[in-house]
Amino acid sequence: MMEIKLKNVGYTYHLNSPMAFTALKNITLTFPAHQLTAIIGKTGSGKSTLIKLLNGLEIPTSGEVVIGNQVIDKYTKSKQLNLVRKNVGMVFQFSENQLFSETVLKDVMFGPLNFGKSEQEAVELAKFWLAKVGIDKDLFEQAPFELSGGQMRCVALAGVLACEPKVLVLDEPGAGLDYVSNQNLMSLLKKLQSQFGLTIIMVTHSMENVAEFADHVVVMKNGAIVRQTKPIELFSTDDSKVELPEAAQFYLKLMKNHQIENELPINKTELINRL
Ligand code: ADP
Repeated sequence: MMEIKLKNVGYTYHLNSPMAFTALKNITLTFPAHQLTAIIGKTGSGKSTLIKLLNGLEIPTSGEVVIGNQVIDKYTKSKQLNLVRKNVGMVFQFSENQLFSETVLKDVMFGPLNFGKSEQEAVELAKFWLAKVGIDKDLFEQAPFELSGGQMRCVALAGVLACEPKVLVLDEPGAGLDYVSNQNLMSLLKKLQSQFGLTIIMVTHSMENVAEFADHVVVMKNGAIVRQTKPIELFSTDDSKVELPEAAQFYLKLMKNHQIENELPINKTELINRL
């Protein structure tokens, strides 16, 4: 079981220089274990900076990030971050662009080998996780770029999962995918969450994904957390103090006008196109 806590976390780019810019201000927040938390907010609100702190890609300039029983603060040395990077897998936006090996199987083996697994163990892990993300074994020896966009993204996900993280952090996992591929990917994440007890943290602009798949939602604005709640409460409570992203405002209006949670007044495809 692994939760992540942020205690009074601040992050300033170019600290102690005339270019200093504070992107995160005094954030205290818990990402509950085994839950899927969505992080939403306008561009520039600090979402990417926040998730980079969750596996030690960036170190907080004040406060601490607690991952399981490991504390990361400004005194943490880079070699202490190996365990954090093993426990917290990061799936970047358009993760398929990071595939580089000559075959699908080798690409997924790269992470486990890097974390000290033997060749044989890495093969086993790669085969196991490729199967979990729905990649047929006929594709294992193909070049990754011969696959479809959705399949390549699944291979990239398998590469992170093969390192056996306890927490999975994703930046816009559905970006650029069509509706069906996005739904498939999100359903897969939910399955992994329940089957392996994964804690999932995802940045998304898709209110549809928030409404349908998130257990918990965190709203960011100007480097601060302005709201933490359940999706249904976010979309049914009008809190004018919180300036929600445009798509969330639209969703909220829609929900309010019709006072219903599951049944939408317009057809789903139309709604998604508008979001
Ligand atoms: P989001 O992911 O919500 O769009 P970011 O975390 O990328 O937000 O950015 C938060 C703020 O930090 C923005 O104002 C952005 O311009 C600034 N920022 C991001 N990266 C850097 C950087 N490398 N140097 C200076 N400022 C940055």
